[in-house]
Amino acid sequence: MKKNTRIFHISGSDNGDHLKEAGRILREGGTVAFPTETVYGLGADALNEVAVMQIFEAKGRPADNPLIVHVDSKESCMKLVRSIPDKALILMDRFWPGPLTLVLERNEVVPDVTTGGLDTVAVRIPGNRIALELIRHSGTPIAAPSANISGKPSPTTAEHVLHDLSGKIDAIVDGGEVVIGLESTVIDMTSAVPAILRPGKISKEELEMYIGEVIIAYDDNVHHVNETVRSPGMKYTHYSPESRVILVEGEHDRVVSRIKELIVDFSLRDTKIGLLVTEETENIVHADISYSLGEKDKPEQAAKNLFIGLRYLDERNVDIIIVDGSFRPDGIGAAVFNRVRKAADMIIKV
Ligand code: AMP
Ligand code: MG
Repeated sequence: MKKNTRIFHISGSDNGDHLKEAGRILREGGTVAFPTETVYGLGADALNEVAVMQIFEAKGRPADNPLIVHVDSKESCMKLVRSIPDKALILMDRFWPGPLTLVLERNEVVPDVTTGGLDTVAVRIPGNRIALELIRHSGTPIAAPSANISGKPSPTTAEHVLHDLSGKIDAIVDGGEVVIGLESTVIDMTSAVPAILRPGKISKEELEMYIGEVIIAYDDNVHHVNETVRSPGMKYTHYSPESRVILVEGEHDRVVSRIKELIVDFSLRDTKIGLLVTEETENIVHADISYSLGEKDKPEQAAKNLFIGLRYLDERNVDIIIVDGSFRPDGIGAAVFNRVRKAADMIIKV
């Protein structure tokens, strides 16, 4: 059934009426997309089975891929879980509100649909005023995966959400462009040694400063189709535009030479090429169309520009997107590499 998707524009001095109304829609079992500091989320009442099912339906998301539950306080997190390990408490105090999701043992108030049948639940407090007010107005924890069609690049603006989900959800809260541009770090706090299931802005090193050893339990390079994985989201195709994506990874000079060769090859084959390249590369390499990832030594810029760039080029119907993988791989750079490797049809290491 086609829905009439309402759009609420929020400005700096907003009086909150829009958020009250959007909160009411959530409380009554509807679906509302909203900005967080990471990407736009598609929210529904995490404790209402029927509401949560609408998220899976709108996104075309596989039912065994669990959702992150967004809350506005630690107290509200406590109501969803059996117990909280000391290290999880330390991380909450240090990083919440913020782009860190904790996987904890869930209790019976959380329905199976929300957790994909797992006995754990992923929880975070988002660091965004609009998201927090919306959750507060809804009066319930909000399950919210990224507000895109499953498998596509995550949305960083309300326009992206509208492009993917118009007519499929009840409302969109438009709070402008997000700040970070990549999803939260997900860390499993139920294992003997805490394990990062998805990299994000908060890096392994940062986490280790507070809780000691942390292991990496994600794999950038492959789509695990038939394997048992710790985070069900790991096994699905992700972040992929329609166009074919080729990632060229390595030191800057070599990446530039290889991209130049690729452009020559593809031009001979009458292929429309889109470049998603660092500023340094954009100054010396030219193709049909390009979008900047920002300065190569500032991976936070690549984080912000990756999804927006993939969508920008895809909408201009390029046949192929060549991504410049010469930006710094540390800090949030590790997360950018993780997303772009998953989006890539081919990875060339030079
Ligand atoms: P999304 O909200 O679309 O960014 O995806 C949420 C991510 O968190 C997916 O990769 C999920 O598999 C992961 N996730 C959510 N809940 C859990 C859980 N209980 N255990 C492990 N991973 C989870
Ligand atoms: Mg997602």
